[in-house]
Amino acid sequence: MNRLFCTVAKNVANNKQLLKRKNLPRLAVFDLDHTVWPFGIDGFQYIPPYFYHEGKLIDVHGQEIRHFSDFPHIFQLLRDKGIQIAVASRTKFPTGAYHLIELFDWQKYINYYQIYPGVKVKHFERIREESAINFNEMIFFDDEERNIIDVGQQLGVDAILVDHETGVTEKIVIESLENFVTKQNSS
Ligand SMILES: [Mg+2]
Repeated sequence: MNRLFCTVAKNVANNKQLLKRKNLPRLAVFDLDHTVWPFGIDGFQYIPPYFYHEGKLIDVHGQEIRHFSDFPHIFQLLRDKGIQIAVASRTKFPTGAYHLIELFDWQKYINYYQIYPGVKVKHFERIREESAINFNEMIFFDDEERNIIDVGQQLGVDAILVDHETGVTEKIVIESLENFVTKQNSS
């Protein structure tokens, strides 16, 4: 077996070990626009009503509406690890966001919803109240730096900035969980 392969195999084994430990976050919080789907719902690139036609979710003009491809697999992966899920969005079109979540059939994964305009610190304070989960037991994904700074620096949540074009991927989630566990173990 060559050395590189050994190292890779060892790292994979270590990572699996890491993720089995107890110090995983208890809650993962997701922004919506450009984090779970590749558009801003209040930008009205897609005009309601949204509905399924021949197996595709479309808007009134027949444009297909898609979420980022690693969802809902990411939600399932988190659930399988016993991690609860919340969404925190500042959209000006909350009814559209709720409707899309319902149409994608994601309610079965999501435990807490905070969807309305305003600073995200408020969304998180409400999530903490509702869930009774501390900020340091949460992990947060968002494509906007201002939210990452607000929530990360002010509240101490482990906040991960994602590329707005690719959103959250399974790879990002796994790496972020590993980093979370490493930080917990070293503190
Ligand atoms: Mg966003």
